[in-house]
Amino acid sequence: MKNMHFSPSECHTALISKTVQTLAYPGKAGIEKWRVELRAKLKDLTGLSIMPSKKAPLNTRSIWKRSTEHGTIEKIVFTSEPFAEVPAYVCVPHEVAKKGLWMICLQGHSTGMHNSIAVSRNDDTVPAEIEGDRDFAIGCMKRGIAALCIEQRAFGERSEQKQKEICSHNTCHDAAMHAIMLGRTLIGERVYDVDRGIDYLLSRKDVSPRCIGIMGNSGGGTISLFAGAMLDRISFMMPSCYFCTFKDSIMSIYHCGCNYVPGLLNCAEMSDVLGLFAPKPLLVVAGSEDPIFPIEAVKKSFARLKKIYKDSGAAENCRLHIGDGGHRFYADGAWPIFLSLIE
Ligand SMILES: [Zn+2]
Repeated sequence: MKNMHFSPSECHTALISKTVQTLAYPGKAGIEKWRVELRAKLKDLTGLSIMPSKKAPLNTRSIWKRSTEHGTIEKIVFTSEPFAEVPAYVCVPHEVAKKGLWMICLQGHSTGMHNSIAVSRNDDTVPAEIEGDRDFAIGCMKRGIAALCIEQRAFGERSEQKQKEICSHNTCHDAAMHAIMLGRTLIGERVYDVDRGIDYLLSRKDVSPRCIGIMGNSGGGTISLFAGAMLDRISFMMPSCYFCTFKDSIMSIYHCGCNYVPGLLNCAEMSDVLGLFAPKPLLVVAGSEDPIFPIEAVKKSFARLKKIYKDSGAAENCRLHIGDGGHRFYADGAWPIFLSLIE
């Protein structure tokens, strides 16, 4: 029927085009005030500000430790908050190239963190071929960099196992919705786990406090971006196949419920959120044919981000690598640029 709008997206798209974002980057003159205000707002909207301020003891437990081709890998479990334990792999290369430097590695929607160390989901003594360069910790160790792989909430070993009924096609759905009812978001909870991972790293003698980076693809890129925007203790970032505009990605194309932050689009676009990381070294990785984070919008958003870096006096610290393909990581293209940024 002509002139009838029955699809919810029509109304939402019209709203987006009219929205004046209250905490969009205001330009160089207002940068310091904006930084403080947007970061505080982001912590409120994601629920990070209501996560436990009194940190639970990490109570780190070692599950196993073994020597592999590229380094020593230890599986640990630490406590993030009461009733939230985090499995993680601690990966130390045989030959450390950059002393004290650690990368936190995050998988996106997948079978979990076992991908980061390239082992089978069901038996972590069995090597596995990992597609799309998602064996992040292997990539780190090959380059002499240590890595902490965190199992994100609702992924892999942290998928829901206790509820009587669960969403059968999406491991995030129940956790994302329940978090919202508690004033939290899954993004805020996952960032909190990263913060606790940093607490673990800083309990070690081989970690330099200003040398902790973060990387991940897709849902791992999401949390890299939000963690870097809100946590001061992250010094480098390499998010892959997530950075775009909210308008052209999670507001235009089906995405998992774990991507959404109530009210965020009324305040800021993604370039503003990532702009909070300026002037620290940042490599944004994208795929030219990524169907869910469209490349033209990535470029448009990156231009806005670059302006924030330029105004912060660090234009050269912000780079974009576009891989020739789809929704995946591009190790061969990305790593040399990233390493040149953190030298
Ligand atoms: Zn999800």
